[in-house]
Amino acid sequence: MAKKQFKAESKRLLDMMIHSIYTHKEIFLRELISNASDAIDKRYYAAMQKGGEGMDRSDYFIRLSPDEEGRTLTIIDNGCGMTEKELEEDLGTIAKSGTLAFKQAMDKAEGQPQGDVDVIGQFGVGFYSAFMVSKNIKVYSRTEDGEGHVWESNGEDGYTVKPFDYPTVGTQIVLTLKDDEEGEDYSQYLREYTLTSLVKKYSDYVRYPIRMMEEKRVPKGEKEEGKPQEYETVMEDVVLNSMVPLWKRAKSEVTDEEYDRFYRDNFFDVDDPLSVIRVSVEGAVSYTALLFIPKKAPWDFYTKNYKRGLKLYSSGVMIMDACEDLLPDYFGFVKGLVDSPDLSLNISREMLQHDRQLKAIANNLKKKIQSELKKMLDNDREKYETFYKAFAQSIKFGVYDQYGMNADFLKDLLMFYSAREEKNVTLHEYVAAMKEDQKAIYYAAGDSLGHCLGLPQAELIRDKGYDLLCLTDNVDEFALRVLASYEEKPFKAATDDDLGLASEEEKKAMEEKAAESKDLLEKIREDLAGKVKEVKLSDRLTKSVACLNGEGGVSIEMYKTLSAMPNAGDIPMEFVLELNPNHPVFEKLSGLSDDERKTYSELLYQQARLMAGLPLDDPAAFSEMICKLM
Ligand code: ADP
Repeated sequence: MAKKQFKAESKRLLDMMIHSIYTHKEIFLRELISNASDAIDKRYYAAMQKGGEGMDRSDYFIRLSPDEEGRTLTIIDNGCGMTEKELEEDLGTIAKSGTLAFKQAMDKAEGQPQGDVDVIGQFGVGFYSAFMVSKNIKVYSRTEDGEGHVWESNGEDGYTVKPFDYPTVGTQIVLTLKDDEEGEDYSQYLREYTLTSLVKKYSDYVRYPIRMMEEKRVPKGEKEEGKPQEYETVMEDVVLNSMVPLWKRAKSEVTDEEYDRFYRDNFFDVDDPLSVIRVSVEGAVSYTALLFIPKKAPWDFYTKNYKRGLKLYSSGVMIMDACEDLLPDYFGFVKGLVDSPDLSLNISREMLQHDRQLKAIANNLKKKIQSELKKMLDNDREKYETFYKAFAQSIKFGVYDQYGMNADFLKDLLMFYSAREEKNVTLHEYVAAMKEDQKAIYYAAGDSLGHCLGLPQAELIRDKGYDLLCLTDNVDEFALRVLASYEEKPFKAATDDDLGLASEEEKKAMEEKAAESKDLLEKIREDLAGKVKEVKLSDRLTKSVACLNGEGGVSIEMYKTLSAMPNAGDIPMEFVLELNPNHPVFEKLSGLSDDERKTYSELLYQQARLMAGLPLDDPAAFSEMICKLM
């Protein structure tokens, strides 16, 4: 019998499969198992429509049968089977469905270096994917009321369909695996271990049992006195998949322990999750999601190596291990999975629509995660503190990132250390506890809590009884500047030029004092030429004698952060030295000789640097000056 040729389109796809350099060739098994499961569905539903006679649901199965000597892997199902015409049409042509979407994706990706690498796994690439690992494929099949047939192909040179007396309803696919070559271990698909892991990885939640005969070592006979126990190898029929996904079971049926174990096993964490979120949506896009918030940040979380994303399932079949598009960066710490029948492997779909559905899901999930975190913050503060300790930076970056596009959405998840409460407070809590005459939300940025609490610039703020937020993460100040205000209260850094705390009278008194001290201030500025741009009197110091500020908008903390960035270059920073006119040291300055004053100016400047968390210009010289004075 003459061989029939594959239709032109199919031939191209087939070529791609046969010569694929795709690294995840293993997905062929997922594809064949999904086809088998679909075929069983079809037979089952047809039987139901006829009044439910025939087989029980539990009689259906899929079986894997590797034969190392013959180098074949056989996949058997007792699904609906295929008629001669169906063998011709379904296997001889590109099926209408998944394969087509795949081909479109390939066409689109063509010319791009990664073209064939990532797209394959995301689609139902179908039956042809078996040619990635096989040199010959035989498909034996029979339908309920038809004759049996066998379809056979070596790939490129076409296929044949012949009558064959296949004894039962269903399909048997025999793959003769390609010979191993360098870097390609096809024999692995004959090993129990590989097959078991692949089923676990991709097809664990297929509704029907996936069976395989496995070798088991069992004790042989009774153990005799004084002799070692003898063993023999027997074959045991085992079910490889767990069938019902955890997330498909009723909420009330799943225990906390089950969730915890599922999380640890699937997301490789030694700790239980901090929180479990279950989402179930029926609508334009239906899906279930099972999300976990870890207790601690994985060691690589804040590096480029961290793999963010959720597992993506289509009706229980995994199609992607980490779908990044499902989570915004700022919730990148969330682990879990999404399962949607609308992303079905075997239902025709357009790529675009595919994207839109993912976006809709991502959008819902993001809102859900935000509201769950908010709930945790409101109802279980201790738990939220644990979360915040691990992932605050992620949230803060989210506020700051993309010019604050998500700042509004995330601002109520923020907490900062309050100098007055001596613990973390939310922005809402800060504002609610503000004194009546207080106009701004005050903060101090520094390397450590001690640094923030000791910041001289914040003295007046705290003397007035206003609370001070202590910002110790590099990103903090950037995040607050993006927010600009909260509940209509502007943020103000303790180091900002004008804190707006002085009354008209106080301002006037200060101006007078400044006029009196004009000459002295000018002399000090000359003493510190090249170090500070300006020396002025301060209206915010109550205890300290001096403090150092950045001129203009950039604070010293931001300056430090920016300068520490790779390729930062020289960031211009000019300092302003503020002096406390009510401090005894200041009063002493005007009575000093020029030489003495020079030493004092230098000391005031250097210690202001220390208070600002900047290094001394010359520690040895500084120490010498102090010794001289002592
Ligand atoms: P898809 O599954 O995306 O439709 P495939 O190339 O995998 O594309 O399969 C083509 C068609 O062949 C299927 O739609 C189905 O009708 C038929 N088919 C494949 N495998 C089986 C099977 N084990 N039993 C019955 N029909 C099958």
